[in-house]
Amino acid sequence: MTLKMVYSFTEGNAKMKALLGGKGANLAEMTRTGLPVPPGFTITTEACHAFFHSGNRITDDLLAQINLGLKQLESDKGQMFGDPSHPLLISVRSGSVTSMPGMMDTILNLGLNDETVEGLVALTHNDRFAYDCYRRLIQMFGSVVMGIEGFQFERLLTRMKKNLGIQQDQEVTAEGWQQLISEYKQCVKTHSGVEFPQNVHDQLKLAVEAVFKSWHNHRAQVYRKINRIPDEQGTAVNVQSMVFGNKGDDCGTGVVFTRNPSSGENVMFGEYLINAQGEDVVAGVRTPQTIETLKNILPEMYDQIEQVCKQLEQHYKDMQDIEFTVENGKLYVLQTRNGKRNAQAALKVAVDLVSEGVISREDALQRIEVSHLDQLLHRGIDESAVTDVIAVGLPASPGAAIGIVAFDADTAAEWNKAGKQVILVRSETTPEDIHGVLAAEGVLTSRGGMTSHAAVVARGMGKPCVCGCEGVRIDLQAKQMFAGDRIVEEGDWITLDGVSGRVIQGAVPLKEATVTDELLQILQWADEVRKLRVYANADNPEDAEIARGFGAEGIGLCRTEHMFFSPSRLAVMQRMIMADSLEERKIALDQLLPMQQFDFEGIFKAMDGLPVTVRLLDPPLHEFLPNLSELQSKLQSSDTDEEKVQLQQMIRKVNALHESNPMLGQRGCRLGIVYPEIYDMQIEAIFKAASACIDRGVSVHPEIMIPLVGDVSELKILRELVDEVAEQVLSADKKRECRYKVGTMIEVPRAALTARRIAAHADFFSFGTNDLTQMTYGYSRDDAEGKFLAHYLDKKLLPHNPFQVLDSEGVGQLIDLAVTAGRALKPTLKTGICGEHGGDKDSIAFCHQTGLDYVSCSPYRIPMARIAAAQAAIEHNNQVEKQAEKQAEKQVEAKAV
Ligand code: ADP
Ligand code: MG
Ligand code: MG
Repeated sequence: MTLKMVYSFTEGNAKMKALLGGKGANLAEMTRTGLPVPPGFTITTEACHAFFHSGNRITDDLLAQINLGLKQLESDKGQMFGDPSHPLLISVRSGSVTSMPGMMDTILNLGLNDETVEGLVALTHNDRFAYDCYRRLIQMFGSVVMGIEGFQFERLLTRMKKNLGIQQDQEVTAEGWQQLISEYKQCVKTHSGVEFPQNVHDQLKLAVEAVFKSWHNHRAQVYRKINRIPDEQGTAVNVQSMVFGNKGDDCGTGVVFTRNPSSGENVMFGEYLINAQGEDVVAGVRTPQTIETLKNILPEMYDQIEQVCKQLEQHYKDMQDIEFTVENGKLYVLQTRNGKRNAQAALKVAVDLVSEGVISREDALQRIEVSHLDQLLHRGIDESAVTDVIAVGLPASPGAAIGIVAFDADTAAEWNKAGKQVILVRSETTPEDIHGVLAAEGVLTSRGGMTSHAAVVARGMGKPCVCGCEGVRIDLQAKQMFAGDRIVEEGDWITLDGVSGRVIQGAVPLKEATVTDELLQILQWADEVRKLRVYANADNPEDAEIARGFGAEGIGLCRTEHMFFSPSRLAVMQRMIMADSLEERKIALDQLLPMQQFDFEGIFKAMDGLPVTVRLLDPPLHEFLPNLSELQSKLQSSDTDEEKVQLQQMIRKVNALHESNPMLGQRGCRLGIVYPEIYDMQIEAIFKAASACIDRGVSVHPEIMIPLVGDVSELKILRELVDEVAEQVLSADKKRECRYKVGTMIEVPRAALTARRIAAHADFFSFGTNDLTQMTYGYSRDDAEGKFLAHYLDKKLLPHNPFQVLDSEGVGQLIDLAVTAGRALKPTLKTGICGEHGGDKDSIAFCHQTGLDYVSCSPYRIPMARIAAAQAAIEHNNQVEKQAEKQAEKQVEAKAV
């Protein structure tokens, strides 16, 4: 039997999206439920694949099946394709599996030619209408199928209207359209070298081919890339009998959402045009009217549309985006799909549908696209303020920022030091620009995509970023940036919107993140189903408080080195590093101790009753010293002898600390073992802070985390140090009860491989997935992201950036292994992750599947992580259920045999 490649709308249903495309599957579904859909058929995505396989050729088999479909359609409609006495007219519409609105073009009124158009005139007694349809066909066919640029036709249309002294399309007379038809035909001939095809079967064949080919056109490719739609999907083609919204004043066409897609409010939202056809509404030829006004003009029609909206929403159990056409007072539905909506509307619609009894709480949770929550949880632009948008780029990192433009990292850093708000504007950034990114409120680049260095780094730092903004040209010499005819000088104010990609001239007022009632409701439902606990990465009391506000159930990572970066503390830290003797070092450490203790007290207080995981010093010491070239240039310009000596000393130290590969050098527990006095001080600070808090009635749960352990001996010796210092401090003046834990980060592959032995000395494992990913792949992150990673992703050698989405296959295997081995020895072992992955949806799903106890992420990602954890739990339960069903089926079958 040959492959069935053509399905009548009466044969399909909504579940057949992969085969019929979204549009086709929904047209079939609506036909089945008795909605007024003009009859037609769908050519499958498999036919599309076959087309590409046979060298972009429609096979005889497919052609025969199309002709059969056409026959059926002719008999349904009582019309004949190409027959002037009662011509069948059709639309040829692309419809991919995943909705790609406006990416591929539709052709309307196909089946018209010099003869059938006269038939249409005679049948409808409406010559103006018939010729309008014909000229539209030549125009659409000419541009979509024959590849003639649209403006060639637009130009002729404009000239004709000007000659006739009219403004609006609907004022054009039959004669006007007739004249345009002959000009259009001439235009087709001139630009393509062939006549507009008069044979209607040629028209159809060429149109179907064009839809298939449009799968590979530039804008479709770009859209797929941005939206991660696989190239292999292919598109279906829908052939549908025409209905006409351009026959007169009781006709029209429009688009309606069943609810408001930007607020979520439960009222119809949409636009329509009287006496118009299909594309007119989107094309902006005329300004459409809002759907409410239809209530007065055609009240019955309005009621019908409202009825259809209700019916479709009930049927699909979600907000719908519907295309309709009214022909002589009769309503036809031409498309429905789940409506795109912004984050706020998504939450409101989901919560409302639950309270209306349409969907369950689990359904509502699964509907939330967590990545969109960024829109709500970051600062945004106050949209009521006038915005002077000068360019639009890729929305690379959410949030909005205002600042003065700096064109290089040094200037950005310098101005930031002087207390100014800066936006770093570069053609692209490299790791050399990091200090500039750090100093900037936001980053704008004119080149590079969503995974470019600027995008990745800014996201990591939680800073707004717009990248790949090709409308912006930077002149570094003149220190100016051009956007269209606008010039922005260095030091001028601009505003970035990392959610929409907008670049706005001037400083626009911003509004803080909003936590709405709907979000709180969804979060509450999420908390009821999720198994994973959600912790925060927070290094100071302020972040800890923010995190707790977002629902953090503990701190999974407090990076102590971040406590040393303020200028006054850095000076003491440097003195500690410069020390030549243990005594000298201890003096500096004694000064650092109260500073750390102060911060820990604040954090413990903010997290009263919850665990706080503190990681002991991790980075190599040279990171706290200035770099060599900076020191050398300072030395050259220095005039006092005393300063010179100091600088020379520092240079000596920097040279001594130099490592050829610092990432694999003396850092983490290796530092703590070589200089135990450093860790000693940190542990003392932690337990002094704990004691002070306990005395004030705060419930403290410190968890000391030893970084970079690769061999059990490292953990063993440092654990002894923790226990010893803790004992001393906690019972210095009186006995205090403090239940603390000691654990390790698993971030060196060897630690994962020897997890069973390490577990003997650990109360918890926290997977440091940033380092674990670096070391498992053998990539240094900065080098990878700055150099080859983008290339790898372009070439599809890797499915994702492994620093954003956890590599479950490789890195995940190490995690799984370590969890299993660790728990085999110690069933109570607590496990979690604290890398950047802790805030990523897919990575969270992996953590749930692997049975970790918690994920830890930056404070602003906590709401997202709570929902993602719930989604993972629901998804997992569904899978388990499905498996159980299959099992049961198998048993029944076995019995039957
Ligand atoms: P898109 O994917 O760009 O929305 P569509 O195939 O949905 O493309 O169609 C473009 C326009 O043409 C829409 O307004 C649609 O309603 C209209 N249209 C499509 N098919 C028909 C038809 N058979 N009769 C009348 N209008 C149609
Ligand atoms: Mg289209
Ligand atoms: Mg459409």
